Amino acid sequence: MTDLNVALDKCSRCKGRLCCNYITQWIETPRSKRDFEFLLWQVAHRGVRCYQDNDGWYLLIETRCTHLGKDGLCGIYDSRPSVCREYDHEWCEFDEPAEKHFKKYFPSYKSLLAYCRKRFKSWGK
Ligand code: SF4
Ligand code: SF4
Repeated sequence: MTDLNVALDKCSRCKGRLCCNYITQWIETPRSKRDFEFLLWQVAHRGVRCYQDNDGWYLLIETRCTHLGKDGLCGIYDSRPSVCREYDHEWCEFDEPAEKHFKKYFPSYKSLLAYCRKRFKSWGK
């Protein structure tokens, strides 16, 4: 099998097409209570999560790419964005969850609130 065929075979088994169903956005490192209040508001919204990895802090927003067809194929494959082209399918989220490499991960309002309470002794006072 060529690399492309290996990728197509693997992706065809990845029913959710994981990498085409979210975006990430770098954010300033939150430091103050106010920063975390703002982050809590963002994470309170459905499909919005937050994490920190070696490159900094990010929002992770679940949203399906408009070019992902019902057949699970990319509708603009030949002209897809460089982010998609550069994505390493040889070892991807299908192989192991991305969060395994996060330093901090807040998949919910509740998890971020617990962190805020621990980090700021005066939280809520
Ligand atoms: S997460 Fe990996 S296996 Fe799934 S569609 Fe993307 S590149 Fe293919
Ligand atoms: S442009 Fe294509 S490869 Fe990129 S996220 Fe959308 S469907 Fe996936």
